[in-house]
Amino acid sequence: MEQRPRYSIVAPCFNEEAGLPELYRRVCEVMDQTDEPWELVLVDDGSHDRTALVMRELREQDPRVKVINFTRNFGHQIAVTAGLDYGRGDAVVIIDADLQDPPEVILQMIELWKQGYEVVYAVRKARKGESWFKEFTAKLFYRIIYRITDVDIPLDTGDFRLMDRKVVEAMKLMKERHRFIRGMTSWVGYRQTGVEYVREERFAGETHYPFRKMLKFAMDAITGFSYAPLQFATWLGFAIAGLSAVGALLVIYARLFMGSAPFYGQATTLVTVLFLGGVQLITLGTIGEYLGRIYDEVKGRPLYLVRDALGFDGTQPESEPELHHESVAVK
Ligand code: UDP
Ligand code: MG
Repeated sequence: MEQRPRYSIVAPCFNEEAGLPELYRRVCEVMDQTDEPWELVLVDDGSHDRTALVMRELREQDPRVKVINFTRNFGHQIAVTAGLDYGRGDAVVIIDADLQDPPEVILQMIELWKQGYEVVYAVRKARKGESWFKEFTAKLFYRIIYRITDVDIPLDTGDFRLMDRKVVEAMKLMKERHRFIRGMTSWVGYRQTGVEYVREERFAGETHYPFRKMLKFAMDAITGFSYAPLQFATWLGFAIAGLSAVGALLVIYARLFMGSAPFYGQATTLVTVLFLGGVQLITLGTIGEYLGRIYDEVKGRPLYLVRDALGFDGTQPESEPELHHESVAVK
């Protein structure tokens, strides 16, 4: 019978075949220093390269490597969720598989955890090898989120963090589909603290977060933790109504005291109507963003489907890993 691990390291992987052996090596190097049992939970998020095979090879070498294969690409946040569901450690660490989060930081996290902190998140002091655009949009994103959400999500933190078992169990009670894990771990409360680190360059391959996905991620974060866009529509309504009331008074004044009313032809009407049409469509779209998410929640589909989960209790069948050919990444 395998010893229950004290630490679970969870890494979501989408097309990470080139970096996985190095991730395993670095994690071993760090975690073996703790002299306590640990497991590395690799979640294959429907990769269409050899990620699944590489994971199995690692598992054959070392049974502390656990493998979860999804039936398709379900997206980064969902892959992390599966890792949290399956991992059994007293403390669970989420880490990116591309080695942008240096595993060495985990030791500092463990130290703080042993001092009684239940969430230890890693704050990005600097980022290496990322375009100014990514850096700028990321900074902007964290600041907007910080301002408009109802929970205090620490600035410049990614998913790289350690969580106590209590926190993981609390997270499992949160069933939402459009998951923003950084927000969720703040929402649960508990004693939290941060450690600073330098975000490294990707070890291999390219980012799976193009602008389109970043935007969707940002929308999930905002709609998941704030009503600000809806409230903004209300304020906009009041502002425009107020403005037109002033306009009406001006027109009355002009009619009464200035002889001819200052109307400037059709163009004014056209611009006003189009402006209001635009505002209405934007607010409708904002409602739509929330409505679509409500629809997703109501359907109550499972968050993810697992083809294989290897190494969690020994009862799972081990089918041949499948190479997906045409899955499209979701985020
Ligand atoms: N990832 C995933 N599913 C996806 C996209 C990404 O599991 O659909 C994983 C990816 O393998 C990596 C982590 O999520 O371990 C972060 O993704 P990435 O490095 O592409 O994002 P970035 O660091 O550029 O923001
Ligand atoms: Mg990355």
